[in-house]
Amino acid sequence: MKAEIVSIGTELLMGEITDTNASFIASRLPPLGIELQLVSQVGDDLDVLVETFKRGLLRSDIIFTTGGLGPTQDDLTREAVAKTFGEEMTVQADLLEHLEEGFRRRGMPMPPTNVKQATLIPSAVSLPNARGTAPGWWATGDDGTIICMPGPPRELRGIWEEEVLPRLRKETRGEVIVSRNIKTSGVSEGGLDEMVAEYLGQDNPYLGLYSKSDGIHLRIIARASTEDEAWSLIAPVEEGLTSIVGPYIWGYDDETPERSAGLLLAEKKLTLATMESCTGGLLASNITEEPLSDGYYNGGMVLHSSDRSAWLEVGIPREVVEGYGVYSEQAAQAMAQAARTRMRADIGLGLTGLAGMDSIDENTPAGAIHIAIAWEDGVSYFPSRLPPRRQVVKRRAASTALIELRRFLSTL
Ligand code: AMP
Ligand code: MG
Repeated sequence: MKAEIVSIGTELLMGEITDTNASFIASRLPPLGIELQLVSQVGDDLDVLVETFKRGLLRSDIIFTTGGLGPTQDDLTREAVAKTFGEEMTVQADLLEHLEEGFRRRGMPMPPTNVKQATLIPSAVSLPNARGTAPGWWATGDDGTIICMPGPPRELRGIWEEEVLPRLRKETRGEVIVSRNIKTSGVSEGGLDEMVAEYLGQDNPYLGLYSKSDGIHLRIIARASTEDEAWSLIAPVEEGLTSIVGPYIWGYDDETPERSAGLLLAEKKLTLATMESCTGGLLASNITEEPLSDGYYNGGMVLHSSDRSAWLEVGIPREVVEGYGVYSEQAAQAMAQAARTRMRADIGLGLTGLAGMDSIDENTPAGAIHIAIAWEDGVSYFPSRLPPRRQVVKRRAASTALIELRRFLSTL
């Protein structure tokens, strides 16, 4: 079954809001076996909407729409669907009563403009919206189905879960799509591509490589008539990939570096303290994304000034600061040790490097990152080289430090 999404609202075209609704809907379609082939954004313009729907029904079985179901003049989704189907909108007594009841409960008179939210066309049924005044529409014609959902993301998600999904499940019994995401770090996209070449280029299961801030992801996608069958297509490919790239794998599916490292810290009953420089607190911020991090994360320090007295003050030895500089292997090691002792943790994590575009000298190139882990038996050091763009370095250095920490913890 082929589908498309039409996100409706002039504010989308003005760049004022981001189309998160389309991403939400798109992410929900693969497990239903619905193949999304197009996403478009259309302003509040009746003619363009009708044209989009008519064309959409020629190439897709289902059109999902979001937005344009409000009470105001510029919300025209219903009008456009009615015109596409060549039908007349009429006010439905039961929908009107429900709408009026909602306003009564809130102690407000219903503005006359809201009446259009109680309309239907003969080809459409109403989808109750428990979180707002605009019900959705499920309109079925000879050429396909148009499913209209409200724009506010909370309402869209509610109506999706409660009304749209159960109906779709009934209609789409046939094919399911499942996927497995294997997350690697420490190997380049090109290198990985070469290593897994024998698995590339197949259609089912399909293998894709994606570069992300936490490394390269290998995504295996399989289609079959049942979930079990789809998983049994994935299993041998996953096994094969694991035997080839095993040492680079740090996680699967929705796992994040902070979750992965955090789970190991909790499991091994170890505490962590950090000292970071070029990441400006992002490392600490990522670690505290985890709800239970207060159980293992003692805290962190951010050192950033080019005035070196702050570094001396928190325990980085003068010979390190003056002899090697603060963007060095020795600085990272001293930071890890200082974090560990000053914040009384089992493990200290130090991270320094140059995030900006400009190298200081040949020993201190932009994008060179130094990560060190201190524990009772000593200090381990991990260098990393990243593309020298500030945002990229910050995000990737923070991820890399946590992936190295996870690797280190799994050997303890
Ligand atoms: P509408 O139903 O078109 O009047 O939209 C109401 C509000 O929902 C908008 O002002 C946005 O804040 C939000 N919204 C509408 N469409 C989208 C979309 N595609 N993605 C995210 N938010 C949206
Ligand atoms: Mg709108």
